[in-house]
Amino acid sequence: MTNLLYDALFARHAGNANPFLLLQNGESLSYDAFLDMAARFANAIVEAGAGPGDRLALQAAKTPEALAVYAACVQAGVVFLPLNTAYTSDEVDYFVENAGASLLVCDGSNEVSLAPIARRHGASLFTLNADGSGTLAERSRRQRSTFDPVARDDDDLVALLYTSGTTGKSKGAMLTHANLLSNARVLARLWRFSADDVLLHALPIFHTHGLFVATNVSLVAGSAMIFLPRFDVERVIEKLDRATVMMGVPTFYTRLLQHRALSRGATAGVRLFVSGSAPLLPETHVKFERRTGHRILERYGMTETNMIASNPYEGERRAGTVGFALPGVEVRIRDKDTGEPVGDGEVGMVQVRGTNVFRGYWRMPEKTRVEFTDDGFFITGDLGRFDEDGYLQIVGRGRDLVISGGFNVYPKEIEQVLDEQDGIVESAVIGVPHPDFGEGVVAVLVSATEVDVNLEGLKEAVAARLAGFKRPKKYVFADELPRNTMGKVQKNVLRDRYRDLFKKAE
Ligand code: AMP
Repeated sequence: MTNLLYDALFARHAGNANPFLLLQNGESLSYDAFLDMAARFANAIVEAGAGPGDRLALQAAKTPEALAVYAACVQAGVVFLPLNTAYTSDEVDYFVENAGASLLVCDGSNEVSLAPIARRHGASLFTLNADGSGTLAERSRRQRSTFDPVARDDDDLVALLYTSGTTGKSKGAMLTHANLLSNARVLARLWRFSADDVLLHALPIFHTHGLFVATNVSLVAGSAMIFLPRFDVERVIEKLDRATVMMGVPTFYTRLLQHRALSRGATAGVRLFVSGSAPLLPETHVKFERRTGHRILERYGMTETNMIASNPYEGERRAGTVGFALPGVEVRIRDKDTGEPVGDGEVGMVQVRGTNVFRGYWRMPEKTRVEFTDDGFFITGDLGRFDEDGYLQIVGRGRDLVISGGFNVYPKEIEQVLDEQDGIVESAVIGVPHPDFGEGVVAVLVSATEVDVNLEGLKEAVAARLAGFKRPKKYVFADELPRNTMGKVQKNVLRDRYRDLFKKAE
């Protein structure tokens, strides 16, 4: 029997005694031992009543056991639904109900609050703790270490990943065997992964980046992973010594840059640093190269599509761009309102087609329909353009576009100018209601604590570079920008915070 993803990622490692997970405490788990653990979990899940197509929701710490539950679901044909550990019980309630999950696995500390939710939705509740213990782990230890994988095809579901949902309710993206396997293979080839690689893994495993990009690519190539429970800059610097690749969100890189131990020596054994999930500031790119000699490779993707574009492994890695469409993935830019082609180099909506693109939103056929064009392209919601050499630049989310006095203002263009000014660490440009202009441009600035920013000088610099309608009408300072776990700036939070800034005095 074939099970597309299980065969390609896991089954082929049977008998492989090489290390798969190198743990923080110095212990390691071989591929073979991991497969044993996963098979036991598969038997435990089936014994608990889950069958092919059923959903298992997991909200648990990042442990080898949690990752083994993913592998267990793949072989049992159970749809894996990983949940952000920061979600409250109300949020988990929504996911369990929306997905119709039949099993809910949580940390022991949340058992009491989640028990009524599981009961209400008819789901069985198990625990899995940060130390690898818990009722599901115990049950798995009593099982056989072999499992006959359930037959699964290209279009069968592997996982439901709920999008971060900064507006409206979060939607479950249905990801199939073919979606995940095609992307893992393409990336492993493009980024030259091999069994000699050791990936430093400090990302969460409830998100596409840590779960699919990092883990599936390593599995395809038979690489090892230094499996850290979270990003801790001291630990990461220490472990870089053994790593050949690191994947991170931009915040990882800005934090590393703040650490004095980051140097050429500390990164000498690393052949590749990858960044994604949020825009990497060109300045971070430049500073990182100056300190370490490495040019970070930036790539672009999203939960619904897996990875879409990447800077080249060989050839110029261009700061401020996400490179070229991956092999087998089509990317085009279309007018965001009419869907018509745009002129060369113009900004428009990024649309994507390929085996990597998901099957649709769980139980939301209408929502799915409007997010695809008639010829099968997924409308990403990101605005972008191709530069003169064909590198894709992401200008921002469509919903972050500011329309002031009828003119389109792309926040990124203004943020880039602001970020270059003395004393500015980073910035976010948003639009909030304005009585005359519809929306007024607001710049939220984070300054270096020890520097006095000369706001008048900054305004002059902005005036010299940007047309009047693009210039912020108000500047506000903040200690930091609100970010979600993947390092994305939450502009909706800022829009909320400053929505009354232009309100006329009564
Ligand atoms: P998620 O589904 O949580 O992975 O979020 C996907 C979104 O993150 C994309 O639609 C983009 O808006 C953003 N994103 C991911 N990678 C990049 C990148 N390299 N540059 C800019 N935005 C990115």
